[in-house]
Amino acid sequence: MQKITILGATGSIGASTLSVIEHNPEDFSVYALAAGSNVEKMLELCRMWRPQYAAMADENAALELEKQLQRNHCKTKVVAGIDGLCEISSAPEVDMVMAAIVGSPGLLPTMAAVQAGKRILLANKESLVMSGQFFIDAAKQYGAQILPVDSEHNAIFQCLSQTVQTELGHCDLEAEGIHSILLTGSGGPFRYSDIGSLDAVTPEMAIAHPNWSMGPKISVDSATMMNKGLEFIEAKWLFNAKQEQLKVLIHPQSVIHSMVQYNDGSVLAQMGEPDMRTPIALSMSYPKRIPSGVKPLDFTQMSELTFLAPDMARYPCLQLAIDACYTGQHATTAINAANEVSVAAFLNCELKFTDIARINEKVMNKVCALSTLNTDSLESLLELDRISRVYAAECLRR
Ligand code: NAD
Ligand code: MG
Repeated sequence: MQKITILGATGSIGASTLSVIEHNPEDFSVYALAAGSNVEKMLELCRMWRPQYAAMADENAALELEKQLQRNHCKTKVVAGIDGLCEISSAPEVDMVMAAIVGSPGLLPTMAAVQAGKRILLANKESLVMSGQFFIDAAKQYGAQILPVDSEHNAIFQCLSQTVQTELGHCDLEAEGIHSILLTGSGGPFRYSDIGSLDAVTPEMAIAHPNWSMGPKISVDSATMMNKGLEFIEAKWLFNAKQEQLKVLIHPQSVIHSMVQYNDGSVLAQMGEPDMRTPIALSMSYPKRIPSGVKPLDFTQMSELTFLAPDMARYPCLQLAIDACYTGQHATTAINAANEVSVAAFLNCELKFTDIARINEKVMNKVCALSTLNTDSLESLLELDRISRVYAAECLRR
């Protein structure tokens, strides 16, 4: 029986993870659940799953949850704040940690799990984008095993040899006969829209993803293709890839979840329904396979599979992120922070859809122009994240 802590339990990935556990009750048990501030949902999950711990990042939410749990005769203990989250990620009883908090708040609890040498089921791509080399080095130093949950990276992982799978972050793609990694993306809801009409995109329109059901932030990131940009950076770190080894390809049907192109001409692809329970199940059971509840792909119900190159005029955020990726850690930490601020402002109807890229670019340029930049410790990365948010807030006010 493997004990799991789920960070981001009340979200979309949290729900899919619990669904996989429901299909495999003999193999996994929930040790702890963590979330930001949603007391109602957390109470419901605690009553159903009876974890030993529930963690709320928000202190008031933790107090309220504690009251509600007592009222419901539920024995789950409540911990609060960042310390509480780190505690349940690193507890000795825990075997694996699902890292599925959205955005930069995921970094410290995920890092706590890394430093405790856990198996990390990595959905929170932002933490890897923010900390890159630091994250990869810490995993090696503390013996943490990283399993990619992001569907593209999980697909790529499945198309690689065991040598690469067990050396994530340090593998040698060339020595494995790999020509390139093809990162596929649907292109989001506006792939065929008139570029001139994108100024008028509302949050409701941006969140309505054609193929996947996800949380609001990643849905907006999919519409701008910033998500693919963050995934490009994520792939660089996970697969130790050089710029020329990483390519982005639009594949509107989301049947293929990414591919690996070998030097002998072979291309390996991973396919499936667009359902996150497939990559989540593999990350939990690797190297074995377990049922996930996902229906088998029916090729007779499929129409054509098509592919096209991304048009960078339509997706300026994608180009910015690719540029940031090989500029350096300061650039990727900055663009990630800027994007979190600009997407939150867009979701709050304070910013136009097309201004997300403008803010991201301004902040990245401003950070890249700073004369003193330190990115070799967790503290310095968090400071860079903070400065970038201040810059982004200034840009928003103008
Ligand atoms: P979501 O918005 O549905 O859920 C986010 C979760 O994070 C919630 O449980 C929320 O309570 C928690 N949270 C928010 N702020 C927090 C804070 N300050 N402290 C602690 N917890 C906090 O998001 P999601 O779609 O489940 O995505 C989660 C992560 O997984 C993101 O990093 C996303 O990029 C990644 N991801 C998601 C999908 C998907 O299909 N949803 C696919 C690939 C990767
Ligand atoms: Mg993805």
